[in-house]
Amino acid sequence: MELYTEKATLPSGLECTIREMTATEEGFLASPKMLKSGEAFEKILRNCIVEKDIDLDNLLVGDRYYLMLAIRRLSFGDDYDFKVRCGSCGHTFSVNINLADLPVKKLEGDPDATHTITLPRTGKKVTFRLLRGRDEKKISSTLRKTPQEIIRLSLLLHTIAVDGDENFSEKFFETLPGADSQFYRKEIDAVTCGVDTVVEASCPECDDEFDVQLPINEYFFFPGTRKSKS
Ligand SMILES: [Zn+2]
Repeated sequence: MELYTEKATLPSGLECTIREMTATEEGFLASPKMLKSGEAFEKILRNCIVEKDIDLDNLLVGDRYYLMLAIRRLSFGDDYDFKVRCGSCGHTFSVNINLADLPVKKLEGDPDATHTITLPRTGKKVTFRLLRGRDEKKISSTLRKTPQEIIRLSLLLHTIAVDGDENFSEKFFETLPGADSQFYRKEIDAVTCGVDTVVEASCPECDDEFDVQLPINEYFFFPGTRKSKS
């Protein structure tokens, strides 16, 4: 049987061809070890991108997310159901979205461009670049993962120089005031390309509304295996 293929234009403007998933790729998702390390998703990308000369480590993170979504949509369609737990009342409920509706932000300018900004609180000048696949791997291989640690590591990996010095200390990010950290993240977001994977959820029990990060996990690629109970 001939597999479905599709041309994709990535947020950075790069073009490639993807193919639908097969039982081989589904097998990667059945391995808890490969799921936990992120290797399963890496292998899905590798197998389902037809052009084998595309360097996944060098792809922008925004392009990689876009590809994961495109492969999922080509293989299983646009409909995605996932579970969310309400932070206010603890109720767990299903959210249904159409993956085709997620906004995609295109890259403006050169993917290799660097940006220099001045942090409002400390007055430090930081120079940053966009993250690539190899950076994402460093984040996903970090063992202790509190949200604060992920933010700190992400900022560290974005940073090329502090006040023009490329040999800046990692400690800089441990003592960075909250106002600077937040400002820095906003400046990065402003130039980052990719799919907006934050969706709005509304709790049917208490009517609380909140944002959730679209879960990209084994169920994302196995839409039929987990029936909603709520
Ligand atoms: Zn609730």
